[in-house]
Amino acid sequence: MNPFTYTRAEDAADAVREATTDRAARFIAGGTNLLDLMKEGVERPDRLIDISRLALKEILPNREGGLRLGALATNTDVAYNEEVGRRYPLLAKAILAGASPQLRNMATLGGNLLQRTRCCYFYDIITPCNKRIPGSGCSALNGFNRAHAILGTSERCIASHPSDMCVALAALGAKVHVSGPEGDRSMPFADFHRLPGDTPHIETNLHFNEIITAVDLPVKGFADHHCYLKVRDRASYAFALVSVAATLDLDGDRIRESRIALGGVAHRPWRDPQAESLLDNQRATGETFERVAEALLREAKGFEYNSFKIEMARRAVVRALHTAAFGEVLL
Ligand SMILES: Cc1cc2nc3c(=O)[nH]c(=O)nc-3n(C[C@H](O)[C@H](O)[C@H](O)COP(=O)(O)OP(=O)(O)OC[C@H]3O[C@@H](n4cnc5c(N)ncnc54)[C@H](O)[C@@H]3O)c2cc1C
Ligand code: SF4
Repeated sequence: MNPFTYTRAEDAADAVREATTDRAARFIAGGTNLLDLMKEGVERPDRLIDISRLALKEILPNREGGLRLGALATNTDVAYNEEVGRRYPLLAKAILAGASPQLRNMATLGGNLLQRTRCCYFYDIITPCNKRIPGSGCSALNGFNRAHAILGTSERCIASHPSDMCVALAALGAKVHVSGPEGDRSMPFADFHRLPGDTPHIETNLHFNEIITAVDLPVKGFADHHCYLKVRDRASYAFALVSVAATLDLDGDRIRESRIALGGVAHRPWRDPQAESLLDNQRATGETFERVAEALLREAKGFEYNSFKIEMARRAVVRALHTAAFGEVLL
């Protein structure tokens, strides 16, 4: 491992100041992703700025009537928070579908948003990878790409985003608050993560010296009709091959509003509001759900080992919508 220095930030402003003086510094929160990457030699910070003790752990109502989740709340804190369970059960279920209890006790909300892809070539520092070393090539394009993306890929990178929590946050329409040298700003969750394009090493619209301080959940939590469906190789402790966060606002069997986000299929949680709009004012039926699933996957493109994901995602969308509307059903 490379040598590095370690400092503990006093508050968010202190953390931002420290990061601004050193481009090669990294914030460390729970450390569950960063330390693994350092051990593999993928991340080589010369300074760790410990933010784990900052007062950013609270989960409180926000001014709009939604809920503010502090960036340093652990995944466990969020998943078992009473208000989250009552108003945003989709989020609690997505978090509990991820990792293990031990990891969720350490892993934080901010760190979950910034966790890196699980592409095996990204972790293997002797192979070319445009995300690790821009311009070096992409080993996954013609390699073992079973877990990789089928939507929004580029010729430079076909990695998928591994988070479960982020898929639910995308479906709920959350907002991310950040703090930097120029002050505070916020952005819709949909603008936080980027597609790979020509710059797969730039994964989010967060600047290197900005810290995530909180995530806001909107008033509407779709508590009555929701489903988080995660399809994976093992029943637990595995990343999603495909996941679906589906929410419906129903008036009888008529759909007033819907949100669908997909995980494991793109470089960021995947939403397509145009496809979702096919559900507006429609009856909740199998045919309607099939139409939307078809539209969501219309642009999907498979590679040598992952084409199966296209049909898997299509079926997962239909199943998740059925479950959101009617409860668990056998299809
Ligand atoms: C074996 C294993 C299995 C897992 N399975 C799943 C799974 O199934 N589903 C899933 O969603 N996740 C899974 N995870 C990922 C886990 O949820 C993430 O590692 C975790 O959420 C990262 O949070 P952290 O606080 O530990 O981040 P850290 O490792 O501390 O940091 C990660 C990155 O975020 C940055 N960072 C952290 N906090 C902030 C902040 N507030 N502002 C700015 N930058 C920040 C750090 O600088 C670093 O670059 C798994 C992890 C492991 C090790
Ligand atoms: S898919 Fe992306 S992360 Fe994986 S090898 Fe290619 S460039 Fe690297």
